[in-house]
Amino acid sequence: MKIIAGILLISSLLIGQVPAEVISSFWQNKKSQHFVVYYQEAPAGFLDELIYKAEDYYNSIVDELGFRRFDFWSWDNRAKIYLYRNSDEFRKDANRANWSGAVVTVANRTIESFIGQSGFFDSILPHEMAHIIFREFVGQKVVLPLWIDEGVACSQERSYLLGRMQFAKNLVLQNKYLKFSKLFEIYQLGSDIQPQTFYSQSASIVVFLIRQYGKESFLDFSRKIRDGVHWQKALLSAFRFNDFNEMEEAWKAFMLKS
Ligand SMILES: [Zn+2]
Repeated sequence: MKIIAGILLISSLLIGQVPAEVISSFWQNKKSQHFVVYYQEAPAGFLDELIYKAEDYYNSIVDELGFRRFDFWSWDNRAKIYLYRNSDEFRKDANRANWSGAVVTVANRTIESFIGQSGFFDSILPHEMAHIIFREFVGQKVVLPLWIDEGVACSQERSYLLGRMQFAKNLVLQNKYLKFSKLFEIYQLGSDIQPQTFYSQSASIVVFLIRQYGKESFLDFSRKIRDGVHWQKALLSAFRFNDFNEMEEAWKAFMLKS
């Protein structure tokens, strides 16, 4: 697993792709209101804690994004969590980069991960859930720059978020952040972009939008995207920016005082 200055790069995000088959043969399952957890072996108490936290995150994520009035996952629409016994079994299946701690497939509301990694409960799980919830709301087909999806997901992490915010603040202080004109052109992370810079800055922008302008504005932004408005137009009108320079300056001022 790749660790860059203490923050894990935690997942592979699959949007609009055909879900990979889960290969392993024998899965037991345990259900709750919004989840079905598939597992092979789990330490005593692990599943109860997982379900308790997943339901808790579900509530806090839909609340923070302003999606409270929409019930996404229940009964046949429950999200699925596949828990492999360990990292070796997880990585035997396709689509597993060797740094990846989880794979989220938005199309079938599936999170695949494995037992025994630090940060799973506090950050990986809410990160992946936020990916699915956001895309379920705005739609899977709409093309968005990566900072929106990853910013939403990272903004819902618990233990990693503070570190990401501090990192992003330092980027602003040192004038090393990605200019919005460049950030807005990134649809896939290339080798020219430092992942920690990208993830931290993306998280901090979504935190800025929600804390400074409120979740109703974030809901308005998401609803406009869902209804076919171009994301740039949706961003300017939902948060009442005249242009992206104004947004960039407001984000920098927010970061410096936070
Ligand atoms: Zn992600």
